[in-house]
Amino acid sequence: MMRTFARCALIGAGMLSAALAFGQTAQELNNDHKTPGDVLTNGMGYNQQRFSPLKQINPGTIKRLAPLWAFSTNNVTGDEAQATVRDGIIYMTTSRQTFAIDAISGKQVWKNDLEFENDVLRVVCCGIVNRGGAIADGKFVRATLDGQVQALDLKTGKEVWKTKSVDYTDGFSYTGAPQVANGVVLVSTSGAEYGIRGMIEGFDLTTGKSLWRHYNTALPGEPGGDTWPADTASHGGGSGWVTGSYDPDLDLIFWGTGNPAPWDPTSRPGDNLFTDSVVAIRPKTGERIWTYQFTPNDPFDYDGINEMVLADHMVDGKMRKVLMHADRNGFLYVIDRTNGELLSAKPFVNVTWADGVDMKTGRPIESAETKKLRAGLPGWEVSPGAIGGKNWFPMSYSPITKLLYINTLNSAWSYSPIKVEYKRGQRFVGITPKWNFPENRGTLKAIDPVSGKVHWAHDFKIPNWSGTMVTAGNVMFTGAQTGEFLAYDATTGKKLWQFQTGSGVVGQPITWEKDGKQYVTVASGIGGVYSLRIGDERLANVPAGGALWTFALQ
Ligand code: CA
Ligand code: CA
Repeated sequence: MMRTFARCALIGAGMLSAALAFGQTAQELNNDHKTPGDVLTNGMGYNQQRFSPLKQINPGTIKRLAPLWAFSTNNVTGDEAQATVRDGIIYMTTSRQTFAIDAISGKQVWKNDLEFENDVLRVVCCGIVNRGGAIADGKFVRATLDGQVQALDLKTGKEVWKTKSVDYTDGFSYTGAPQVANGVVLVSTSGAEYGIRGMIEGFDLTTGKSLWRHYNTALPGEPGGDTWPADTASHGGGSGWVTGSYDPDLDLIFWGTGNPAPWDPTSRPGDNLFTDSVVAIRPKTGERIWTYQFTPNDPFDYDGINEMVLADHMVDGKMRKVLMHADRNGFLYVIDRTNGELLSAKPFVNVTWADGVDMKTGRPIESAETKKLRAGLPGWEVSPGAIGGKNWFPMSYSPITKLLYINTLNSAWSYSPIKVEYKRGQRFVGITPKWNFPENRGTLKAIDPVSGKVHWAHDFKIPNWSGTMVTAGNVMFTGAQTGEFLAYDATTGKKLWQFQTGSGVVGQPITWEKDGKQYVTVASGIGGVYSLRIGDERLANVPAGGALWTFALQ
């Protein structure tokens, strides 16, 4: 701060006021998790704990929780976005629109329409969705399905800048929410199922100018380039479609990277760095400081994109600056985020593809079933299936209970490989799956991050596909694909409350306060990869149609 101030004082008064405004934004973003009146970024703060210090809604009062308003999002393709809040206005996205909504009356303040070519939808693998935006420096920043990043004026909804990042005809799309750190907007692409070369890109918050790219696959000659044969890395996947978290003290962004392409691993022998990894990068430059790979040479579409939750947490009697990550591959990782050291990796669902993680090398110990697949033998089956022990929908962490709240998935699968050749912008997967689901396809769990001990759990026949959120009032919120918005006691797991929202909940709840009153907001609107691609006849009676709901104590 002091350095910025001194430098700008020399340059002139105009620059000075800009620098002060920018400094204020940085501080607000740093403290977002402590300031319950606003929710500026995805994850309810840079640490992505999805924890709120608010207590008004608690196990004693929650029976009075009732809807205040519902706002139609004019959308039938799935509402996976997390809303954000600033100064009594809620900002909400779909794949085609951005809305500003009065937080108390539920009336629209402005909307901004996006236009894109219809053939964009051809390269969207897993739902015509958007997962939200970020508020910084008087702007609302979001990404678009057709590969652009856009900043809107918070007050008017008018476009401030829009930058084309990638060409969607190459197979790229953007569905994730950006992160904003140190004056840089960070966004990452989807598209591993279309043979993209995945990357994270940084844009100047003020101008929208592209500053750098961090590629998530390594070409020959680059560090890690020897983990890919020939030119396979140039269409090797490694998307990054879930928002990274940020530690302002370390000035590091922690971003998860997706699966290598195609899914059948025989065409790409090697570890395939830096797919299925967490990469710690500097937001200003994109410089990679450390990485850890969850699934080397992934044969199962175990995207490593799931969110990275940051906390100070006791590990073996020592307080550590940790990063917690429940991976698609079924292991719950606890990593020292200062240096990438693996501290713990315990299964959080039934895991049969690996017998454990070697704590010395950090590598998974592949099971007999996976060895069968690697040897080209039929008759193998592993858990979890490609949907993972958990998918993109974020978990939460309570610094009070020290537990993680995770909607986990129960599945097993096998597949037959199909020969596939890379063609620009075409599907590049190369398998036919065979799913094997138990009766309960999902389990909501409260888990100790280090021991993996389950403190409480609730089974769901249709798995939950929404985020969780937990509060200092000791209430944990989540939603069901059959439409119920649900609240549980965070310590005991006792179900406290529910409300039927009218469509399936695949969104991410938030809570916020205004004039001393606590509110809870969540999007409802069925869609996304499970309802589209997995197929579950039990969802046939759940109507589509998005709405943003806000609740308060009556
Ligand atoms: Ca806040
Ligand atoms: Ca994938």
